[in-house]
Amino acid sequence: MTAYDAVVVGARCAGASTALLLARQGRKVLLVDKAAFPSDTMSTLYIHQPGVARLARWGVLPDVVASGCPPLNTISHDIDGLRLASAAPTTDGADAAYAPRRRILDDLLVRAAVSEGAEFHDRARVGELIRRGDRVAGVRLSIGGTTTAVRAGLVIGADGMRSKVAELVAAPVERSAPLASCVYYTFWRGLDTGFGFHERVGRWIARIPTHDDLTIVAAYLPQSEFAAARRDPGDTYLSSVRTTAPDLYERMMSTERADRLRGTGDQRNYFRTAHGPGWALVGDAAHHLDTISARGITNALIQAELIAGSLSGVDIDDARAVDDATARFAQQLNKTLDEPYMSTLELARLHPTKARLRMLHTVCTSPELTSRYFALTAGIIGMREFLTAELVDLL
Ligand SMILES: Cc1cc2nc3c(=O)[nH]c(=O)nc-3n(C[C@H](O)[C@H](O)[C@H](O)COP(=O)(O)OP(=O)(O)OC[C@H]3O[C@@H](n4cnc5c(N)ncnc54)[C@H](O)[C@@H]3O)c2cc1C
Repeated sequence: MTAYDAVVVGARCAGASTALLLARQGRKVLLVDKAAFPSDTMSTLYIHQPGVARLARWGVLPDVVASGCPPLNTISHDIDGLRLASAAPTTDGADAAYAPRRRILDDLLVRAAVSEGAEFHDRARVGELIRRGDRVAGVRLSIGGTTTAVRAGLVIGADGMRSKVAELVAAPVERSAPLASCVYYTFWRGLDTGFGFHERVGRWIARIPTHDDLTIVAAYLPQSEFAAARRDPGDTYLSSVRTTAPDLYERMMSTERADRLRGTGDQRNYFRTAHGPGWALVGDAAHHLDTISARGITNALIQAELIAGSLSGVDIDDARAVDDATARFAQQLNKTLDEPYMSTLELARLHPTKARLRMLHTVCTSPELTSRYFALTAGIIGMREFLTAELVDLL
């Protein structure tokens, strides 16, 4: 059996980042993914500034920029007859958001992990765990027709919402909320609209520029309409844009649709128990939320930093110290990602409250408040910092 300090199962934004940071600590890391790399995955790609700041810290952002991914340095939000518009909020050396294609982002993260010393195999599937007593002690890995036993001090499941590792360790769901929205999206060439949203009761439209002069236009609608939408997704998508963002619709009709329509109604909301003896979960495997707030990638990068930080200096052969570290990670994960989770659940109801509309009407009157509002939605500042005494007075 080959032995590693850590085996990371799943090599996209959560797994590759975790492998990168652990390898940088001098750990012996194996990173595997059952998919062929580089490859795309279903996503509208948006990374908020706190995620971009992490890419910058890890030295990956220059490669994202060099790949031709456009900086998203303005933002707008149309709602209830209002238009909030601002320069993109900035934080920690991130002066724009980005929405790189996943075949580019995930590949850059894998390459960075490998250049730090991690070993990577794609088309490599974990189907079983190896146990010593009640402790996870490795994985059985199938590559081609061959299955290999791999021993590890820590097995990290970064294998997405339908995590095999979570299933094998029977990680319980600690908190969850019902499905709220569903989404259809595709890519349009030459739209040139910049980044922004259009919101009304029952609809949320996002436009997100990415590589190659393409813009993703995504339409979110209530989960209760999913069954009807599936009967004619194309019509549902276009009529949602037309009735929510007529100007955007006109531009779409005069440009070229560059891909097929994709959609999903399976946008779960949960926190799983993210640690146990010899194992941990990161990324969607640990925590998933409705994609309307476009937080999954940013959250994955935050979690990678949290787990690597918790493990820093820990002797991987000291089982108790490893388990204490992963317990600390899980605690921090819940604390850090609670606020975006709650605000996402609210957004995904697709029914702006009177209080929120009143707040947006007030925010709209001041460029400074507008900019702070976008910093809030990007996760740069929290609700406490946003709701100053001055704003409360205005409200
Ligand atoms: C429609 C849609 C739109 C979205 N839009 C955004 C957005 O704009 N911004 C944003 O931040 N997030 C968005 N998300 C969410 C985002 O895509 C996810 O949160 C993110 O991909 C999670 O990354 P991850 O690394 O945790 O998991 P994943 O990206 O799911 O990667 C898991 C990997 O694990 C591998 N794997 C699974 N099982 C095994 C196994 N047994 N053995 C080996 N490998 C395995 C898979 O092949 C996969 O490559 C969107 C999601 C959807 C569905």
